[in-house]
Amino acid sequence: MNPREIADNLTLARENTMIGNYSNAEVLYIGAIEMLNQFMRTIGDPTSKNQWEEALKKVSLEYEGVKRLNQTLQNFRLKTKGDLPIGTRRLCRDEQPVRDTGELKINDDDPDVWPPPTPVEYSNIRGNGPSKSKISNVKKVETKRKDSRGVSSSTSSRRSETLKTKVTKKDERPSSSKSDRDRDQEQVVQNEKSDETEEKKFECHGMDRELADTLERDIVQKNPNIKWDDIADLHEAKRLLEEAVVLPMLMPEFFTGIRRPWKGVLMVGPPGTGKTMLAKAVATECSTTFFNVSSSTLTSKYRGESEKMVRLLFEMARFYAPSTIFIDEIDSLCSRRGSESEHEASRRVKSELLVQMDGITANNEEPGKVVMVLAATNFPWDIDEALRRRLEKRIYIPLPSLEGREALLKINLREVKLDPEVNLADIAERLDGFSGADITNVCRDASMMSMRRKIFGLRPDQIKKLPKEELDLPVTSRDFHEALMKNNKSVSSEDLEKYEKWMNDFGSS
Ligand code: ADP
Repeated sequence: MNPREIADNLTLARENTMIGNYSNAEVLYIGAIEMLNQFMRTIGDPTSKNQWEEALKKVSLEYEGVKRLNQTLQNFRLKTKGDLPIGTRRLCRDEQPVRDTGELKINDDDPDVWPPPTPVEYSNIRGNGPSKSKISNVKKVETKRKDSRGVSSSTSSRRSETLKTKVTKKDERPSSSKSDRDRDQEQVVQNEKSDETEEKKFECHGMDRELADTLERDIVQKNPNIKWDDIADLHEAKRLLEEAVVLPMLMPEFFTGIRRPWKGVLMVGPPGTGKTMLAKAVATECSTTFFNVSSSTLTSKYRGESEKMVRLLFEMARFYAPSTIFIDEIDSLCSRRGSESEHEASRRVKSELLVQMDGITANNEEPGKVVMVLAATNFPWDIDEALRRRLEKRIYIPLPSLEGREALLKINLREVKLDPEVNLADIAERLDGFSGADITNVCRDASMMSMRRKIFGLRPDQIKKLPKEELDLPVTSRDFHEALMKNNKSVSSEDLEKYEKWMNDFGSS
């Protein structure tokens, strides 16, 4: 992986965006982001790492923009049933539910029929979202409420989500009286209002405020939006995580005393096997606030403030509880890299982390307030005993099995056309030893081969004029063959042996 390759990928992503090929552009952006992530793992120098992190943030923003654009376009795609555009009817909230008019029945099983727009989409479409001043008033209201009731907003918003689900379910009854419908609609509006009013923000005063804002901006991810089904294979890891993290969040009253949740769960395995995705899926599946931290960010980006950062991180996690704190590359808190002062900073951050993790146990006794630490490492042997002891559950995230590799191919290729002669089972066989990320790279490369051939030697203005159909050709076996020639597996058999040995010594799955 080198910067040139990353730049090439990014250029292609931007070119695809320019010509309106948003789906391809998304794939290319994901690739560039993955390459950036991989490349950053090889950088030791903190200054340079910070610069690359900035670049990553910018590219991620571009990607989010393209994704949103694509999503909006997808939402405008019309599906006609007879002569009537079904989707458009769902856009109009003021209308009565269409199913009740008797003229047009919406088939709930039809994947192309849109679900009703979420409140945010709705307010964006109508351009009448809450005004800024309204939001700031809301914050004040919430702060007051919190003081008097001490109820967490996540609980409240989950409560209103439950209400919303109930309302939707009612809505789906074959026939409901008009007054029921009216009540239901009123209920939805009320729930939306309560969602607005109960959106709460971590308040922090004095010197730490800036740090808290940085943390909130860089690290808190309200909805990572990765589901279990987006992750191929890894059934055992999903089961273990469900038991160790998801269930204690779902039924906290059961997980008390001897059954208390684990203080921390460590995911161990080669790079690119889906550890980060699993952490995001855990946060999505339990609707927890997700704090996505990398250890190098903690130790280098906020130099001098790192311990305070850790303290604030846990404070914020308790405030937004239930929360999942995901600490990537946790090994880098223990290993001795760079200068003596850097080592000292890491040591202090680690001590603070240990203190905070010990504090979690008491906090987790309070139902609905669970904070779970999920850590990941590609170098478990670098983790010292004190930290290892706190990460009580240690799970191995292996390379994908044959079945998993085929599933990964399907997931990666779900948005591109495939030539009927392509045999995914054969390709999965040839990908033995490849990680999930390696397979994503192969698929990305293969899906771009025909486009690369088409645009080779052309200028951007000429590329822009190319019809979309000429670029968006089905991926062929030849494309895969060429992609496989270019991409090698990233994990060696010696590495695999090392993981196996470490798991035998310290694993707990
Ligand atoms: P890790 O954290 O283990 O280094 P990631 O979770 O960041 O790995 O995965 C990197 C990329 O590899 C993901 O963005 C995804 O494209 C792909 N990937 C890896 N494993 C899987 C999997 N099991 N299912 C789907 N995609 C995967």
